[in-house]
Amino acid sequence: MPESYLNSEDASGEVLTDQTSPSVIPTESEVTVVGGGLAGLSCAVVLGNNGVDYHLLEKSEVPGGKVTTDRVDGFVLDKGFQVFLEASPMGKRLLDYTKLELRPFYRGLYIDSPSGSRTLISDPLSTNLGVRDLRNILNASDLVGMVQASIAYLRYPKSTTAEIFSQLPTRSVLRRSIAEPFFKGVLSDPELQSPISLTRSIATLFLKGAASLPALGMDSIPRHLASQLGDRLHTKSEVVRVSSKGVELTEGRKISSRCIVIATDAPTARRLVPGSVTEVPYRSVGYTYFSADERPLGHAALYVPSLHKGPVLTVSVPSDISVYYAPQGRHLISVSHSRGASISDIRSQLNKIFRGQSNSWEEIAHGDIDAALPALFGKSLALPNDRLVGQNIVLAGDFLDTPSIDGALASGVNAARTALAIIKGRGSTTPPRVK
Ligand SMILES: Cc1cc2nc3c(=O)[nH]c(=O)nc-3n(C[C@H](O)[C@H](O)[C@H](O)COP(=O)(O)OP(=O)(O)OC[C@H]3O[C@@H](n4cnc5c(N)ncnc54)[C@H](O)[C@@H]3O)c2cc1C
Repeated sequence: MPESYLNSEDASGEVLTDQTSPSVIPTESEVTVVGGGLAGLSCAVVLGNNGVDYHLLEKSEVPGGKVTTDRVDGFVLDKGFQVFLEASPMGKRLLDYTKLELRPFYRGLYIDSPSGSRTLISDPLSTNLGVRDLRNILNASDLVGMVQASIAYLRYPKSTTAEIFSQLPTRSVLRRSIAEPFFKGVLSDPELQSPISLTRSIATLFLKGAASLPALGMDSIPRHLASQLGDRLHTKSEVVRVSSKGVELTEGRKISSRCIVIATDAPTARRLVPGSVTEVPYRSVGYTYFSADERPLGHAALYVPSLHKGPVLTVSVPSDISVYYAPQGRHLISVSHSRGASISDIRSQLNKIFRGQSNSWEEIAHGDIDAALPALFGKSLALPNDRLVGQNIVLAGDFLDTPSIDGALASGVNAARTALAIIKGRGSTTPPRVK
């Protein structure tokens, strides 16, 4: 397995360039994109496909923003539990799934059954086993609750997820063992305060296609996009000032531009362009990686605990999804949990869940991701549709759409559309060439 993806050739023969190599920052560029997360990268790719002279400035050493991966002693550690949902409409338009070598999770979920045993339930839309599993779980009061929840959603579409789930019976397995723990985990939202519209759109993507990991790590996604930018991507380049005429970097270097796309996190956008966006609260989450010499779960499925109380949100085994995530003979266990959870609290809950088996797991990494996901996003920010927040200044970023890979990619494509309208005068309704 390649230690790193940099300067290597992937299985499909695409040469992936070393994004840390110095590239010459110009003094002029038609469009300057600030921020090399998925939003900035997708914007840059679309600008390039439409023949625009652009440059992208990223303050870190590598592009990717929230989607980064560390490599430690042969283990591949994504920054927190992340999956790529193959049904992502923007993923389908912008990414080459074959080049990413996507490896799917099992279409199902490990849950705690009321009897206390860990049970695998399959996705009813992908296998008959799922229909059987669901029949065993659902009872008449669940069906009534589901109808009530659907009516509540139609009547109050701005409800929180917790409010809609409260329509299901209190003791329902569907609610307590599946819906609540699953969405607490995938939304990193232990209180389920996310709008039900987000939960619904994420659920739809999970049901429509596989949840996958690129074989060599989640950072294959930004690398795949970055490999299309060549020397127009400038890492270690932090923008400190923005005006309608261009940007200024640290050390006073300036680039004059006809259009500037700010594709940073919301607080940075607010600092660079005061008044551009209201204050956006963010959710934080923690992650811990362990290695083990035995596979703790039988199938390559996600486990969402509900019986033993504690900080753990999800447990998965990435090396069951792709063998490249761990050295031969070892297994990688990924645990997501609430921010600030102590390793002793995490271990204590895991020991109850895995009945002592986890005592022998070795800790590889443990930390928090602050400001991981915007808690306010999309239409609730009341921004203009074209995301124009000042003369020639356009915003991009997951907080404008949904806090997800698909949302970040979509925001970048939308920003590219507005940038094209500014520099080419084509009118903002002309669809840009995405590929
Ligand atoms: C722990 C976690 C788990 C997640 N799980 C999933 C999941 O399973 N599935 C899913 O679809 N989504 C998931 N997401 C969400 C998804 O990863 C993000 O929504 C998406 O990556 C955000 O991309 P972005 O480009 O909008 O922002 P960011 O990734 O934050 O990119 C912003 C970029 O701007 C750069 N920048 C900031 N300031 C400056 C400056 N002054 N000058 C230059 N550059 C600057 C930053 O360095 C960064 O690279 C998860 C996120 C996290 C954190």
